[in-house]
Amino acid sequence: MKDSFGRNIDYMRISITDRCNLRCRYCMPNGVESLARSEILSLEEIEAIAICAASLGISRIKVTGGEPLVRRDCCQLVKLLKSIPGIEKVTITTNGVLLDRYLEPLIEAGIDGINISLDTLDPCMYERITGFDRLAAVMKTIERSADLPVRIKINAVSIDFSSMGGEDCHGPEGIWWKELVELTSRYPVDVRFIEMMPIGYGRQFKTINHKDLLEEMHREYPGLTEDDTEHGYGPAVYYRIPGALGSVGLISAIHGKFCDACNRVRLTSQGFLKTCLCYEDGVDLRAVLREGLRTPEGDGHYHWPLRECPGDEKLQARLAAAMEKAITEKPAAHCFERPGMITESHNMIAIGG
Ligand code: SAM
Ligand code: SF4
Repeated sequence: MKDSFGRNIDYMRISITDRCNLRCRYCMPNGVESLARSEILSLEEIEAIAICAASLGISRIKVTGGEPLVRRDCCQLVKLLKSIPGIEKVTITTNGVLLDRYLEPLIEAGIDGINISLDTLDPCMYERITGFDRLAAVMKTIERSADLPVRIKINAVSIDFSSMGGEDCHGPEGIWWKELVELTSRYPVDVRFIEMMPIGYGRQFKTINHKDLLEEMHREYPGLTEDDTEHGYGPAVYYRIPGALGSVGLISAIHGKFCDACNRVRLTSQGFLKTCLCYEDGVDLRAVLREGLRTPEGDGHYHWPLRECPGDEKLQARLAAAMEKAITEKPAAHCFERPGMITESHNMIAIGG
């Protein structure tokens, strides 16, 4: 559906958990408490919201978290989402640590693409950022990428490492991004750099300005050319090193604002539909659902599953109306360049990136 600025909103990121097996310092450092499981949307609740979203024109879903693969029913959920009429593509973003175990089940469930978040190839810096020595586990899937039936994209947050310490790590020295870029020469993967956004713990770190990064990349690779082939449905601008197997993307929310072309909303693991990263605007869909599905006995049980629940039309209509109103009222643009205006107080772990 269109929002009040005429933007077509057809993409929803769904965070399915607020738990994670890593502790990235800009996202979920040690000490962040996890929510009670009852606070998190059940599989059926996510399904119900996705059915409504599809009826409003959402056709692409990204499963995120927390770390989505720590939720046991993640692959089952992917399969469910894929079976919803109108949902054309379901992709996932993961830190990759558990991919070795879940790659085949995800592919069997019909996943259309896998994004792996990986900020550095330096083992010392990896541990500095994530708190764990798991780089080798993540690399296993990347090394298999040529044999996989789905495309792998690698997402790296453009951290100004000087704001993160790590002087005791030997790398990355000098050109911190080069090893990541060169993955595109070895494997058929796209590597995308994402400017660090001032949300949650991200506020404590500095981002690299992508205008500077692009200049550096042109200096390092004089043959670098813009790559305008279709890569997905996000805001990345792509480039290619001659002869490379994959492309390099820049997602520059801060220094290359792309709000005019924004196509997305976000569903948090607690069921809040967020319409812009910068603000708390949106609607509590969990409240709409849980109120609507309470059994007449008021015993705390719900009618499920919604798809087969007779008489669910009223609830579906209420859910759709709440979503429609929130999407219509989606803010025009983020306000990261004016931090005093940011109203979002949640951490990325709760929002899903
Ligand atoms: N655990 C999964 C992962 O790491 O891909 C999914 C959740 S994570 C919150 C989604 C993405 O958000 C990751 O690529 C992460 O690097 C990114 N992220 C977290 N905090 C960020 C921030 N402040 N600015 C930009 N990206 C951020
Ligand atoms: Fe976990 Fe992903 Fe956040 Fe890192 S970025 S703490 S892997 S949710």
